[in-house]
Amino acid sequence: MDQPAFQEVSQNSPQAIPTQMRRIEGREWWLWGFAVAVTLALTLGIISFTFPWLNRETDVAYWFDLREWVRGLAALVLLFDFYAVYQHMQLHRIRRQLAERDQLFHLISENAADMIALVDSDGRRLYNSPSYQKVLGYSNEDLNSTSAFEQIHPDDRPRVEQAAKKARLTGQGERMEYRVLHKDGTWRTLESTASPILNAKGQTDKLVIVNRDITERKRAEEMLAHNAFHDGLTNLPNRALFLDRLQHALTLSKRHPNYKFAILLIDVDEFKIINDSLGHKAGDELLIQLAQRLTCSVRQADLVSRPRTSGVPDRPLHDNTLARLGGDEFTILLDDVRDPIEAVRVAERMQAELAVPFVVNGQKIVISVSIGIAASTSPHTQAEDLLRDADIAMYRAKRAGKGRCEVSDPAMHASAVKRLSLETDLRKALDQGEFRVYYQPIVSLQTGMFTGFEALTRWQRPEGVLSPMDFIGVAEETGLIIPMNRQLLREACQHLRSWQSEFPSTPPLTMSVNITSKEFAQPDLASEIRKCLEQTGIDPSCLQVEIIETIAMGDAEKSGQVLAQLKALGVRLSIDDFGTGYSSLGRLRRIPVDTLKIDRAFISNMERDPENREIVRAIIVLAHNLGLKVVAEGTETEEQVSLLKQFNCEMAQGYFFSRPIDDQAMLKLLASNRNARAASVGG
Ligand code: C2E
Ligand code: MG
Ligand code: MG
Repeated sequence: MDQPAFQEVSQNSPQAIPTQMRRIEGREWWLWGFAVAVTLALTLGIISFTFPWLNRETDVAYWFDLREWVRGLAALVLLFDFYAVYQHMQLHRIRRQLAERDQLFHLISENAADMIALVDSDGRRLYNSPSYQKVLGYSNEDLNSTSAFEQIHPDDRPRVEQAAKKARLTGQGERMEYRVLHKDGTWRTLESTASPILNAKGQTDKLVIVNRDITERKRAEEMLAHNAFHDGLTNLPNRALFLDRLQHALTLSKRHPNYKFAILLIDVDEFKIINDSLGHKAGDELLIQLAQRLTCSVRQADLVSRPRTSGVPDRPLHDNTLARLGGDEFTILLDDVRDPIEAVRVAERMQAELAVPFVVNGQKIVISVSIGIAASTSPHTQAEDLLRDADIAMYRAKRAGKGRCEVSDPAMHASAVKRLSLETDLRKALDQGEFRVYYQPIVSLQTGMFTGFEALTRWQRPEGVLSPMDFIGVAEETGLIIPMNRQLLREACQHLRSWQSEFPSTPPLTMSVNITSKEFAQPDLASEIRKCLEQTGIDPSCLQVEIIETIAMGDAEKSGQVLAQLKALGVRLSIDDFGTGYSSLGRLRRIPVDTLKIDRAFISNMERDPENREIVRAIIVLAHNLGLKVVAEGTETEEQVSLLKQFNCEMAQGYFFSRPIDDQAMLKLLASNRNARAASVGG
């Protein structure tokens, strides 16, 4: 322990007594000086009184004067002596007071429940009260071997260091809370006050820190706060917390139009009957189980195919909130919902999950729920208004026959219905074989001959032919793309087989098929393709698999594996729509592709836009440097064809040569292509 520092500390006015003491001590020097001077003068006087022959004159008046003078001086010395004794007594009193206070401080600090520490300006500990051991488990040795900041939580440490620095500079300590590591590895929260001790120059020399363990109080406060915002029965967020989060999300969605969300209001059908017939206790138990199922369901909603990026920069993805509004009413804030259909799908899945019987007190209970959905795209700016919309939609669902789901916004409703019916129709179309394969020729720019075809799906509906752009997305999301494209691959390979034998060429005609990300992620993709090639008797090198840039260059490790598997089969790989994704050209060198297909956006205005022309030329040069062949997509004019020839582009595809056509039309086109070739060779 640092004794002098301790002596300076007092309870009420730590600086008052030392200042008083210093003042008296200063005065004491002066007094002693004066007393010495007077004593010296007196001694001289006595000497001359005792030895009169030392004086030149010896008259009686002189003796008399001298005695008077000595007497006066002696009285003065006596007075000073009294004053000096008085000052000395005062000093003694103050020293005793200080000793008592020191003892008191000692007693307080040694016995206080609060932890008291004395640290120097570098954070070194000079004293720790014994309560450190009781509260934090550290012995004096443990503490003395560490700095005062070491046990502080890393997140709080900069704040505490900053406050200590401020106390040092300004001489003013502040009250603060921070976490400290207990010897048993748990975190305790301390409330701490630092008071600086100033040196003679008025600078902060040391800090007295009084710490109080407020962990339990904090815990109680947190519990109170939790109870204020959570439902006692299910422990889910309550209405107040939900409205707060909803308001926050709503404000965010108005600021960032890309950020969209939906709320689902779930109400148990005929809950009153269940409650009345089984009793309130069973009703409560049912609600608890219901909350548990909904919690799992919401967690799953985070994992199902939802967008991978949030519409708001720096915002965590899928911050869904499930809350109990009261009674049998639950609500969910479904975060980052891009399309209303996602909310409808989540609602339907929840309905299916809640339809599984509950067991309460050994009794099976079957319930249904009605769900109302409202979306952030509504013009409302207040959380309550949006919740009311969901409520209205929920009542509509109840009126429509319970166990149903309704969407509040009409546009959202229409879009959700359209999307749902498209999904249903797609399934039917697959069963009924409504998908057709169309073929578009790929032409050699050097010879004008067909080198192969791209197989493109068409949906033959009673009301007309539907382009893949209108349904590939839904097929991909629902997974229908897998059976759809397997069918297409088989059919395309069969047609290729017959065209190869009818129109033999060197090298033989090829077939290009498109692979989406879902197919690309199928572990059996390569084996499925191999099976199809074997069954149709197609040489693997005649099949071109087209993959868009972002998939091929996505997750390097995963895509690398799939591409290697495909390559091992012997099929050729093409990067489709090249130039539209973000491409690491470095990676292009490392992936085993054979062909680049330049996106038609670059080709379509190549003749008018010099910049696009340059891009096309640069892509062709780059591809050739990497040993790749190039196909120009969307070639529509003669001018484009001649520019592409100038740039040494090997192949082109587009309306200039032919639109995608069915196999019968392609058969005729192949014949005329052969005849044209024959005519040109013959001529
Ligand atoms: P893609 O693979 O880039 O196919 C080329 C698209 O460009 C085709 O559209 C084709 O009709 C169109 N096109 C060809 N030449 C021209 C032209 O000169 N001008 C214009 N404006 N367009 C031209 P389509 O058939 O509508 O297919 C669109 C996309 O859908 C395809 O782009 C492909 O990514 C995908 N797709 C089509 N069929 C299938 C399929 O069976 N399976 C998979 N996975 N995707 C397919
Ligand atoms: Mg393609
Ligand atoms: Mg393309």
